[in-house]
Amino acid sequence: MNHRACFSWILTFTQRNLQTSTTHKFLLDVHMNRYIHLKQNFDIAFPEHQILGAHSNVVVFRPQSVMTQYMWTHPGLRPFGHHIPIQCVCGALRSQSPKIAPTLITMKCSWCEHSVEYTPMEGFVALKGKPGSSAGTWVRGPFPVPTLPL
Ligand SMILES: [Zn+2]
Repeated sequence: MNHRACFSWILTFTQRNLQTSTTHKFLLDVHMNRYIHLKQNFDIAFPEHQILGAHSNVVVFRPQSVMTQYMWTHPGLRPFGHHIPIQCVCGALRSQSPKIAPTLITMKCSWCEHSVEYTPMEGFVALKGKPGSSAGTWVRGPFPVPTLPL
């Protein structure tokens, strides 16, 4: 820890309507890892928290460091971390199914054949886990810093 900094880390969530009940177990695991087991790596807390991941991304701020964003991915529910619409352009609900390739996931509607392609987000790497598992995978990457108008 940098003793001149006001904090060693700050963790926050990107969901505007955060349901805090989805964060309890995750926050407990983060604090157990850091203060009981003395493990400084945030990555180890994520793999078992797909319910939180389906609800919100996680952002970690550290002094004098790039902000890190953790994002949950799932081939059929959040391809490469992209949010997919619940409704297709034809009006069908949850009618999309994925066709999966290593760097491309195509979501295709089973009613109208409409399809949308998704590619991995630049700068994100997968955390340890089982890629392609039904529980999904967390990825870590840079958090885009918003630019303020001058
Ligand atoms: Zn459709």
